[in-house]
Order: sequence, then structure tokens, then C-alpha cells
Amino acid sequence: MMARILAIANQKGGVGKTTTSVNLAASLAGAGKRVLLIDLDPQGNATMGSGIDKRNLENSVYQVLLGLTTAQAVRQKSESGGYDLVPANRELAGAEVEMVGLDNRETRLKSALVSVAAEYDFILLDCPPALNLLTLNGLVAAEAVMIPMQCEYYALEGLSDLVETIRKVRKHLNPQLEIEGLLRTMYDPRNSLAQQVSAQLQQHFGDKLYETIIPRNVRLAEAPSYGAPAVSLDNACKGSQAYVALAVELLSRSVSVAAAV
Ligand code: ATP
Ligand code: MG
Repeated sequence: MMARILAIANQKGGVGKTTTSVNLAASLAGAGKRVLLIDLDPQGNATMGSGIDKRNLENSVYQVLLGLTTAQAVRQKSESGGYDLVPANRELAGAEVEMVGLDNRETRLKSALVSVAAEYDFILLDCPPALNLLTLNGLVAAEAVMIPMQCEYYALEGLSDLVETIRKVRKHLNPQLEIEGLLRTMYDPRNSLAQQVSAQLQQHFGDKLYETIIPRNVRLAEAPSYGAPAVSLDNACKGSQAYVALAVELLSRSVSVAAAV
């Protein structure tokens, strides 16, 4: 069995991509799955949030994308998360520019993952908040996209650009690419606008919307300062429980898809 490769993407900043990446990775690991998380963001938040210091990396995903080393050589174990991580730091910002002149600039990550895919059940790609070459590499390498979003007024507007990009990638670079699902994050059930947007999403996207909703929860926001996913620090808090439920939902969907084929 090869790994399921999921890109966690939304070009809108601060919607919970990284929080979802690290907590879903830890939840899947907790369910006994072998997980590799790739930090594709020069901010290096998934790296720090996994307990790996981005400031003293010998190598990172940057060298992997440039073909200077392999994912196997660069990956590190996140002790706090129970998964493996290919880290990133600000050096990755240069990859944008340097990759433009290289061959196969959109398929570099995909090629780099071929040799590690058999070692994992899931490979999660934490994408940066932009529809740039790094995100494009994520969308080309992935079989599906998970889209975290906040239920606010402008959320739907940004979504159409992302859906259009996914459509283009499918047409030209990765015909298999699917939307795995839309994830409502930082949800506050007392906010009536959030309720309305959530209902609209339900109408537009139907069963592409995960049933699991991630609530606004301070433990999720605090966890990165301890270099650990909230799921590992405090699995009883509402936020952790939601991510564990998301992993269960993802796994049960995978099973029903497999049974349907
Ligand atoms: P960027 O686009 O910059 O990469 P992102 O989409 O990865 O951001 P996160 O970094 O996961 O978003 O989250 C943005 C901020 O909101 C962070 O400070 C994070 O700790 C906080 N946050 C994320 N999810 C929740 C939540 N469910 N409840 C409370 N705070 C949250
Ligand atoms: Mg992020």
C-alpha cells in the first residue's frame, strides 16, 4: 500500500492549515498510522509546532525540492507528535525563485516523495498561504486536498480561486486530484454569521464538507509554544477531541471509498 498524500491548502492566511496539519498528523499517528508531515511553508510553523527548531536545520525541504538531497535524509522524528517531519524554514522562500529556472518545477515534490511513499500510510503537506509554486508542488504531489476554512463572510470568495486552481491543476498536471473535504475551523457556534456561512457551505458542498467541526479552542492556539500538537499535550480538550474525530472520519471515508471500488 502506498501512502495517501493529502495537501492541506487554502491561500487565505491564518485559517488553521498548520494547526490541522500537526494535529491531524498526531491523531493519525495515535490511531497507529505511519505519518509523514511535510512543511511546505517558509514560515516553518509546522516544524516548530512539531517540536523541531527551524533555526538550526542542516537540511530542509528546500534542498529536497532542489534535488540536492532526499526526503529520507532530511526527515526527522517529531517526538511530541509521533510522526516524521520534513522541516522547513525561511530558506524555502528562495526556492520559489530558484525553481522557476529548473526543469519540472511543478513536479519536484511529487518526484521526491516516490521513494518514501511506501513507508507511510499518510503523507500530509502543510501548504503556505499563497497559490504559488510551493502550493502548486503540493497540489501536484497530492491525490486530494483538504481545505480548512473559517466560517466568515469572505471565506467563500477565496474558495472560488482555490477551486479554480485545483481545476487547472487537474486539467494540466494532476488529473487525479480531488477535493478530499472542506473543514470548518475555529468555529464559534454562538456566532450567527458563522452559522449562516456553515449552512451555505453545507448547501454548496454537501458531503464534501466534513461532519467534524473544529471549535475555537485556546489549547490549540497554545500548543505550538510547547513544540507539540495539542492532541499530544491534552487529548481531553475540545480542540484535540475534534481533531481525533476528524482522523476517524477521514479513515472511515477512506474505507468506504476502497469498498466502493
Ligand atoms: P498561515 O496561512 O499563516 O500558514 P494557517 O492557515 O496555517 O496560517 P494556523 O497557523 O494553523 O493557520 O492558525 C492561525 C492562528 O490561529 C494560530 O495562532 C493558531 O494557533 C490559531 N488557531 C488555529 N486553529 C485554532 C482553533 N481551532 N482555535 C483557536 N485558535 C486556533
Ligand atoms: Mg500555516
